Amino acid sequence: MSEVSPRKPFSATRRILEMVPQSLQFLIRDQVARLKAELARKDAIILEQSLALAQSQKIFEKASAAAKIGVWQCSLPDETLEWTDVVYDLFDLPRGSPLDRKKAVACYSEEAAKELEKRRSNAIANRSGFGLDAEIVTAKGNRRWIRITASIECENDVPVRIFGMKQDITQQKILFDQTRYLAEFDAMTGLANRSQFQAKLAALCDTGDRSGALLLIDLDGFKKVNDTLGHAAGDECLQEMAVRLSQVCQNAKVVARIGGDEFGVLTGPEYDRNAIEAFAQRIVDALARPVEQGGRCFRSGASVGIAFVVDGDAPAELFKRADSALYAAKAAGRSAYRIF
Ligand code: GH3
Ligand code: MG
Repeated sequence: MSEVSPRKPFSATRRILEMVPQSLQFLIRDQVARLKAELARKDAIILEQSLALAQSQKIFEKASAAAKIGVWQCSLPDETLEWTDVVYDLFDLPRGSPLDRKKAVACYSEEAAKELEKRRSNAIANRSGFGLDAEIVTAKGNRRWIRITASIECENDVPVRIFGMKQDITQQKILFDQTRYLAEFDAMTGLANRSQFQAKLAALCDTGDRSGALLLIDLDGFKKVNDTLGHAAGDECLQEMAVRLSQVCQNAKVVARIGGDEFGVLTGPEYDRNAIEAFAQRIVDALARPVEQGGRCFRSGASVGIAFVVDGDAPAELFKRADSALYAAKAAGRSAYRIF
């Protein structure tokens, strides 16, 4: 049995070489040596580049884990999904476990899933991309906010892949919501704050017709609550008054605490003069009831000044008229309303 020698082809080459003239043999050997050197040089470059690539990949993986940004891709049209470890972690799924796009989409809130499918279809149709902040509930029941970016890759103008990044933005979202809340709401009573109230007042005046009214409400003798029962009891009293005001003003456009013991209410066009009088009386009655808390009883009450929006009114003019009606209600003995 003949053994196949690994050097056989080389021996054959040598035999062929021996058949060519000496001068040509020298040239061929020289060429082979140069090709071998070239190969060795390229091998060294490939080795160097793969080391650099491995290093870059390591840096990328570390940076992506630190920033909680993962990479995903989905081949089209078979919908095969691939995630990096960070995306698995975001969805609380075991790293490297098999993925099913339908199951992944089921983690999104109903609204986010609808928006995701809409933007994804548009991006595929237009060969573009999209971004979306979405709420998910993970496999372990954790609620998270993620920021998705997506791009489409085409081959011969046919979309073949959709890919992008997914980032955990839960903390940013919480911070953003808190900041927005503080910018628009009064922390003590939970009512709209002065700045939200002013924006709504400007919008009401902008409608340019007799479409509503402004009610300014100021608690009566409130300093006395603070002076006799302390500031903390005063705060409780303000909170209780805010609850009552919200209950009476459920149909109002906005109910706000605009300062100290002063509140503002904006109504829509459904309140004519008779309706607004009945409405104001309900406010006076609700706030006149004693506040009982922790075995103590506070009594305050409130006065109300009302002004209707007039054509071309500026917010400051409307406010001034309501304020002067409030002054009249106070002057008339408090626990009363007056219309400018
Ligand atoms: P009037 O009947 O004329 O309205 O007098 P008043 O005693 O209600 O006093 P006024 O409206 O002139 O002043 C409001 C007071 O509310 C002044 C301040 O001591 C108190 N106040 C303002 N902000 C707060 C707060 O956040 N908490 C507490 N407890 N008191 C406040
Ligand atoms: Mg007051």
